[in-house]
Amino acid sequence: MTPPTRRSYRVAIVGGGIVGLFTAYHLLRAGAGPVVVLERGFLSSGASGRNGGGVRQQWDTRATVRLMREAVGAWKRFGREFGTNVWFRQGGYLFLATTPDEVGRLHKVTEAVRAEGLDGRLLDATDVPRHAPALSLDGVLGATFLRTDGTLYPFPGVWGVYEAVRALGGEVCLGVEVTGVRIEGGRAVGLTTSAGPVDATTVVNAAGGWSADVSRLAGLAVPNVASRHEILATEPLKPFLDPMVIRLSDGLYFSQTMRGEVVGGLAVPHPTGTRAGVPTSVAFLGSMSRSLVRLVPALAPVGVLRAWSGYYDDTPDGFPVIGEDPRLPGFVHANGFSGHGFMLSPASSKRVAKAVMGEPTDLDPAQFSPGRFLDPHRAATPEGLQPG
Ligand SMILES: Cc1cc2nc3c(=O)[nH]c(=O)nc-3n(C[C@H](O)[C@H](O)[C@H](O)COP(=O)(O)OP(=O)(O)OC[C@H]3O[C@@H](n4cnc5c(N)ncnc54)[C@H](O)[C@@H]3O)c2cc1C
Repeated sequence: MTPPTRRSYRVAIVGGGIVGLFTAYHLLRAGAGPVVVLERGFLSSGASGRNGGGVRQQWDTRATVRLMREAVGAWKRFGREFGTNVWFRQGGYLFLATTPDEVGRLHKVTEAVRAEGLDGRLLDATDVPRHAPALSLDGVLGATFLRTDGTLYPFPGVWGVYEAVRALGGEVCLGVEVTGVRIEGGRAVGLTTSAGPVDATTVVNAAGGWSADVSRLAGLAVPNVASRHEILATEPLKPFLDPMVIRLSDGLYFSQTMRGEVVGGLAVPHPTGTRAGVPTSVAFLGSMSRSLVRLVPALAPVGVLRAWSGYYDDTPDGFPVIGEDPRLPGFVHANGFSGHGFMLSPASSKRVAKAVMGEPTDLDPAQFSPGRFLDPHRAATPEGLQPG
């Protein structure tokens, strides 16, 4: 355990995943320290060490495309800024549609992407082999492709930001559990932790799949739900696949890493909540293998090397929750990132830091604010392009 060295901080962040760490980094860069990050596990023990490393700008709302465009720029600069290489490789993302309705959805995605100045392409099925020759075109009606999407290795990303936070004077306390949110005069004033109490002007809830538990510690009901997702890696193969491939019909996604492994996942039903821990299931291995081999028949004889699982933190509309909770001044949300919090983190955490400092952000409150769930008349359009 690394206990906090002081009793009092300007900002105390719950959760040392990529979101908590990047938020600390942006706060420290803005001179808003002292900052402490409290992580009950080890570095990368949450979803930030368990994801597929996908980074895409293809979304069906322009706000997300815009954030991701900024994030891609940050991932490209990451090595220079943080001194660690995340091996960000822009091999593109290829979305496959197998029904006319899905083709319509991809049409909308391409419109949003192009409206934000990116070169997204709507493809006929016959164009697909140019980008991924190994795929079976059985049932494929159309696709989209954006070359500047890509993949990265999450671990050096977490490690690089962790080191940068420490170099800027921030504290990252590993093995320290937050057990309570201290409230005085109707505002959050600190935390109780397994290493003792901590005072803070602002508390940030960056607890990923456990964010609803942390909100509950502050007496706040939120609609976030943790959902377990499984993923696997095959034995390494010669390079045969450039883009990340996602099939809309079943949410199958996979890419080939620079080590040659095919890494991917497919949602299988699990009870919601984090009680199950992070096991893998035979149901997943069966569904994933069948689905993958149907699309890439040449993978039939290839062995699975390892499989693991982790938690998404889902919101009802698929958008993250960023900003101060209107019911509790001093308590800022940075959660609800579903299956795409890693890719968004350089851009989203900048907005979290602004919210902590009481500065306005460019985020539409109807899409991102915690208060949106308190409005019974709200009718925002959900972010529909969720898989991968
Ligand atoms: C299988 C899978 C595939 C994914 N694929 C992608 C992908 O391709 N691209 C992408 O961008 N995203 C992907 N994601 C999602 C992405 O990993 C997450 O959105 C992102 O990592 C969230 O980061 P975080 O910091 O919010 O959460 P986490 O990394 O989960 O960090 C939260 C931390 O809070 C800590 N914590 C919780 N409660 C407490 C407490 N009481 N006290 C102290 N600490 C606490 C936890 O230990 C945890 O380490 C995937 C996720 C999974 C599971």
